[in-house]
Amino acid sequence: MCSPCGLALVIEMKLVSACLAGFNVRHDAGNKANKKVMELVKRGEAIPICPEQIAGFSTPREAREIKEGRVLTKTGEDVTGQLQKGAEKVLQMAKELGVKEVIFKAKSPSCGKGKVYDGTFSGKLVEGNGIATELLLKNGVKVLTEGEL
Ligand code: SF4
Repeated sequence: MCSPCGLALVIEMKLVSACLAGFNVRHDAGNKANKKVMELVKRGEAIPICPEQIAGFSTPREAREIKEGRVLTKTGEDVTGQLQKGAEKVLQMAKELGVKEVIFKAKSPSCGKGKVYDGTFSGKLVEGNGIATELLLKNGVKVLTEGEL
């Protein structure tokens, strides 16, 4: 409540990709810092998360891409199940915090929306969503990428 005007101030918390918030959580231990996302976190309006770290992967880790519905690392390890479990934890977190919108890193096999790398590790893109994005969308959470901000 905002006294003396009496208006209720409700901030809708967002989840954002931790790499966009400047944290070195990418597979290569780098980040993709985005000023708008960092500003949201600084203002206390967004919580940075990394679905792959939530899934139990460390940083650095082997690059992975989606191929025919499975997420495979560059050396062929199938990490789909582990990422799926991580995505379920992300969804649970979103539900508990009442999150209606997330801002995720484009093209990632976990966070991407609309287009993801095609599984050949050659930089080519195909239509599709990352594992965490797919689950959030199915459960009514709006997903934006940094390019849509
Ligand atoms: Fe960034 Fe998402 Fe990849 Fe984590 S899983 S490094 S948050 S794109």
